[in-house]
Formats: sequence, C-alpha cells, structure tokens
Amino acid sequence: MIQSISILGSTGSIGTQTLEVARKLNLKVTALSAYGSIGILEEQIREFHPALAVVFDADRAEELKIKIADTDTKVLSGMEGLLEICHDDSELTVNSVVGMVGLAPTIEAIKAKKNIAFANKETLVAGGELVMNAARENGVRLLPVDSEHSAIFQCLQASPPDKKIKKLLLTASGGPFFGKTADQLRNVTVEQALNHPNWDMGAKITIDSATMMNKGLEIIEAAWLFDTDPDDIEVVVHRESVIHSMVEFTDNSVLAQLGVPDMRIPIQYAITYPDRVPSLVPEIDWKTLSKMTFYGADEKTFKCMSACKRAIKKGGLYPAVANGANEVANALFRQYKLPFLEIGELVSAAVDELNVGSATCLNDVVEADRMAREFVMSHVK
Ligand code: MN
Repeated sequence: MIQSISILGSTGSIGTQTLEVARKLNLKVTALSAYGSIGILEEQIREFHPALAVVFDADRAEELKIKIADTDTKVLSGMEGLLEICHDDSELTVNSVVGMVGLAPTIEAIKAKKNIAFANKETLVAGGELVMNAARENGVRLLPVDSEHSAIFQCLQASPPDKKIKKLLLTASGGPFFGKTADQLRNVTVEQALNHPNWDMGAKITIDSATMMNKGLEIIEAAWLFDTDPDDIEVVVHRESVIHSMVEFTDNSVLAQLGVPDMRIPIQYAITYPDRVPSLVPEIDWKTLSKMTFYGADEKTFKCMSACKRAIKKGGLYPAVANGANEVANALFRQYKLPFLEIGELVSAAVDELNVGSATCLNDVVEADRMAREFVMSHVK
C-alpha cells in the first residue's frame, strides 16, 4: 500500500474527507492546496506538516505565508503552484479540485508519471481524450473517486480479462426534485436545490445533482474511464443511494457495489487499491434499510442529462462545451441570477448551437470552454 499522498483541492468536501482517510491510514501528506480558504488550510498544515501548500489566489497566499511563518511549509500560488504539486515526491496525487481548472494539473501529474485518485469530474469531461491518451502513454493509473465510478471499478475487478461487459448501470439518487414536473420546478429556490436527500457535498455538485447535470457529467466520465459506448451506459434512479452503480455482463449477470452513502469508502479504495483495510465508514444497517427502489430517469424534465449524452455522442470538444456552459449557469443560479430550469435550457442550447472541432491540445479545450461560457453569458440579461 502507498504511504504518501498530495492533494489538489484539500479544503473542499472531498479534500477534507481525504484527509480523514489519510489520518486513519497514517499517510504522509506531502502537499495541500486551496482556492482561497486559508483558515482551513492553515489547520490542515499544522496537523499534516506538508512540505508545500498552494493557494490559488495570490493575495490569500501572501496572507497564509505570514500566518504559517513559524512552520517549515513552503507556500506558492496560482496555476504555477498547482503544477509544482504534481512534481512532488508523493506516491499518489489526489485531484479533488472542482471545475475545469483541474485539467492542466492533471496532465502535468500524468507527465510526471504520478497515479491519480480522480475526483475532478469536470476535467475528465472537458479533456477526456487528452487525459486518457496521456495516461495510456505514460502508464499512469486513474483511480476513480466518484462513488458511481468507484463502484463500477470495483465490480470490474471480478470481470474476465476481456471484460465481456454489456452495459454500465449508473445509479442516481434523483436529487431533491425527483418526480417533479417542469411546471413545479419553475420557481425553485437555491436553498431548495441545495437540500440533497442523501449526500452531503459541495455547493456546485449539489446543484448539479438537482439539475441531474451531475449524472450527465458522470455518463461522460464513465465513457472515458471505462472506454464504453455512451449508448451502453444506462441511468437507474435509486433513491436510497445504497447501490453505488452496477455492471451488467454479456450473460445478463449484474454485479453491484453497495455501502452507506459516504465518500470515504471510494476515497479510501482509490488509495489502498487493490487492497482493502478497515475504514471510518459504518456498515449498512440491513434491518433499517428495509427496501431499495428503482426508477427510470426523466430526461425530458432534466434536460442537462440528455444534453450531456448528445455532447459525448457528437464527440470532440462538445463535452467541454456542455461542462463550460454548466459551470457558468450553475454559478449564476447560485448567485440568484438565473432561474433553475434555464440551466438545462442553456446547456442544451450550447451543445446544439455552438460549432467546435476535436481536442488536439489543452488550448483547444480551454477555447471550447471559453466559447461555452461566453454563450451562456450572452443569453443572460
Ligand atoms: Mn457521483
């Protein structure tokens, strides 16, 4: 088992839970990074003594330098700092950055031949082709942290060498608005959308879960990670979030991975793979679980999901467009500047109306992302 990790995005939901796992497993933490939350980052530095800490925001990095002048931790800022983390001497880089900003560090870590525990889905969605090609060329392993993809990855450990997969069954909680009609969703508030029934997550992904953009992103993520035709990926709404996803094989036998909805299981598995060790997560209480329910997904009401499917089928830079449009629309909704249903309308329109080519380099992805962001901004009064 590995002994050391570095974390890109250590103050967010996945980052802080990764440190809980690191504490439990007695791992050395060599580097940490945050966008601007230097209060939490300082506490983390004082507990884990990383050699390097990066604050994306330059002004806040200067503030942190003063706060931790009594420690041996070096402080850097900006993208330069994030790229520096990718070259440190940890055995595994945990990428738990939120958003496309994680793409350049991901490519950098791969070039440095670092295995990556991957929680930064936007990066894989926007730059999937580049990331997967680079990983293959450098013999680097991308270990999924997203609970659905970890579940599929775990189920695949029992598959024959040539896989014989018929389809991947991605489970979805359905979010807070499952069963609602478009009419009922017209006036939902940010507060209602942030109230997720099963998972305690960051704000961006919680809204993505309410719009089901999250599941759309995960379809694309699964297509890349498991080299699967998007038509062979089916979404199953499973309200209890106990089954985290399934794999159906050629013989119609289905394997599922189950557990209480707690990200510390997939985080820990990405770190200990292929081994398993005791975790902080409680067992499933089968007596109180009593039932599991399953439904189809409502793609007509939750337009983000079908837009993502169209994007991955169109290929090239269209997934980057879907993601970029959503990153802006999601943020605008959280700032009370966009009605809830407009998120799906704008992501759909961006995928259908913009013209983009294929992803040959990092700049192509950045450019498609920029076009999508502009497209959304130009449609908002
Ligand atoms: Mn997920």
